[in-house]
This record gives sequence, structure tokens and C-alpha cells, in this order.
Amino acid sequence: MRTRNAVARDYYGILGVSREASDDEIKRAYRKLARQFHPDVNPDPEAQEKFKDINAAYEVLSDDRKRQIVDLGGDPLAPGGGGAGGPGGPGGAGPFVGFQDIMDAFFGGAGGNARGPRPRTRPGADAILRLELDLHETAFGVEAPITVDTAVLCTTCSGAGTAAGTHLATCEACAGRGEVQSVQRTFLGQVVSARPCTVCQGYGTTIPHPCPTCAGDGRVRTRRSLTVKIPAGVEDGMRIRLAQQGEVGPGGGTAGDLYVEIHERPHDVYSRKGDDLHCRVTVPMTAAALGTRLTIKTLDSEETVDVKAGTQPASTLRLRARGVPHLRGTGRGDLYVHLDVRTPTKLDPDQEKMLRDFAKTRGEEVAELSKQGGFFSRMRDAFNGHA
Ligand SMILES: [Zn+2]
Ligand SMILES: [Zn+2]
Repeated sequence: MRTRNAVARDYYGILGVSREASDDEIKRAYRKLARQFHPDVNPDPEAQEKFKDINAAYEVLSDDRKRQIVDLGGDPLAPGGGGAGGPGGPGGAGPFVGFQDIMDAFFGGAGGNARGPRPRTRPGADAILRLELDLHETAFGVEAPITVDTAVLCTTCSGAGTAAGTHLATCEACAGRGEVQSVQRTFLGQVVSARPCTVCQGYGTTIPHPCPTCAGDGRVRTRRSLTVKIPAGVEDGMRIRLAQQGEVGPGGGTAGDLYVEIHERPHDVYSRKGDDLHCRVTVPMTAAALGTRLTIKTLDSEETVDVKAGTQPASTLRLRARGVPHLRGTGRGDLYVHLDVRTPTKLDPDQEKMLRDFAKTRGEEVAELSKQGGFFSRMRDAFNGHA
């Protein structure tokens, strides 16, 4: 099990988006909240705090590297958290978010802040898939079949989005510029803003005859089967990246990556800590006292181990290199066998007599519960000064 950083802030929660949210979804969520909580719009002191949080969350989630730190359980804005550093200080206040993003929050800008028409062909988003594996599979590796639902290139139009024999047309509303300008009076003074053309969605072109298969998107959703090679020694929460197996972008843009996130099913016998395994074995009191030999089934072998005479409760045996193989480098973790020494719970009269005689030969005092003044009572008297 991976240890999560307990102090990491829930940046996804602040923006109200899922962990799989695309860049666009994050931007949209940020803009919506920024409009609602901007101090010039909402003077409430609580709103100011909220606005800071929103900006911090956007700063983190709009930056691939910082977002990755969050996804690994870290906090890129925490002092010393996440390692990758950057200029973010504690609290993550406003200045790290670009002014343009604030402007976009108020003046639209669905197509980002680029000038001119935006390209129809854009890179695709990454995709993530959970893969449940048994301990044996994470330990020794496996070739796992997976099924992914993603957008793939439309084969009818090869991503162009146009019906066969037709072409894109220049947008008449914006004359192909992709944006229209307007002057607005705002709390920031008079602002000239360019907003994307609503007729062509900022592309500068329209599709008079869309491809019948993909309706002009250049891609279609489909279910594919892949085999992912899981290396030996992977751990719960790790992600395996399959380059360009994610979503194909709009207009047939380069596919994003597919991340396969490992989820290890709990094992009946072994619990895992890093590459070490732990299990519990019960031995009777008599075996612990006299010594015995145990046969332990490890993940991939059977081992014989000696329990020494006089073994105490909660003792541990260590079987070197019988744990999980290391993901990097060679060697394996260890297997720890925790011994539970079991005291008999029901004794028949003969057995009880034997144990009492045994105690007597060792000079160990055993009071009978039915009689007054047992071991505990005398200990109490000692504390009270009656001894
Ligand atoms: Zn098509
Ligand atoms: Zn237009």
C-alpha cells in the first residue's frame, strides 16, 4: 500500500472536478468559480479565502508536472512537499495564476488565450484505467489483457472531419480570424477583449458537409483490446504509461497516453509492506516451549523453518528473499512470519493436573481461581504497602 501524504490538499475537490478531469474541464471549472469568488465581485472575506484556494488549485492542476505530484499523493505547494518545487509558496495565493486566465474567467475565451483562429487538430487527452491484480501478479509480473474505451481516428475522413469530396469553408462571421473583438467597461477599467467567434467556435473555418461517421470531430469512440505487460514488483497505486494509447485528439490530433493504474487485491495470507511480506502462523504453547519445525508456503516455494525451543509470544521469523521481487534492480524483499503462541483454552482434568504438576516442579506459583489471595491480590497488596 502506498502511503499518502496526509497534509496534501484536495485540489480536485476545491475545483469540484474528478481526478480524471481534462485540461478543458479544469479550466472551465476554474473560470466558473473565479467569476463567483473574485474579490471585486464578492467582497465577503470568506470568498477571498475561497478565491485564493481556487487559484492555488488551478495553478497546480493546470500544470502537468504539479498535477502529477498531486496524483502521486503529494502537495506541490506544501513546503518541501512533492519535491519538484517551483515558486509556489504555502497557501498558493493569486500571483501564480496568469492574468490572462483571470481575464478569460470574466470575458469568456473558450479557446484559450491564443490570438487568431485555433487549430482544428489538437493533441488528445491522456486516459487512465484501473487494473486489479492479485499479489502473485504484482509480485512476478503478468501480461494482462485490458479493454479501453477511447476516441480513435475516424477512418472515413482520416481526421479531417469533412465528408468525402468536400472541404472546410472560411467562416463568414469572423472572416476566418476565429475571434471577434469587443470593448467592455468593467471593474478593471475599459477593456478590449477578443472572444472566440461563436459561429465557428474560434476555428475560423466551418464544415459545410461534416463527415457522416464522426460528425466532423475527426475521431470516433471505440472499444479496443490491448495487452499490457506488467513488470514484476509493481505496487498498489503505481501507474504504467502506454505512450499514445490514450484519446486521439479533435481533428485526428496525436493520441494522449494511457495510464494503467495498478490496484492490488488484498491477499488472504500475506500482507505487503513495500517488497516485504508478512504472515501470521499459530503455534501451540507446547511447540513454542519444546521447539518445532514448520513448513511455510511462500508465494513461490515451500520452506522449512525451525522454531527454536523457548520461543516467546509475538516472535518473528525472517525468510530472506522470499518476498516480492524488487521492481528496480535485482533481489527480493523478505517474508516475515509472525508467530502467535496459542495458550490452550480448554483443559480436561488430567491435562490441568499435569500443568499444575509441571508448574510445581518449576517452582511457579499458580493460585486456584476459586481460592482467595491469588497472585494478583498479592501484587496489589505489595503496591499498597501491605506486603
Ligand atoms: Zn470522420
Ligand atoms: Zn468565425
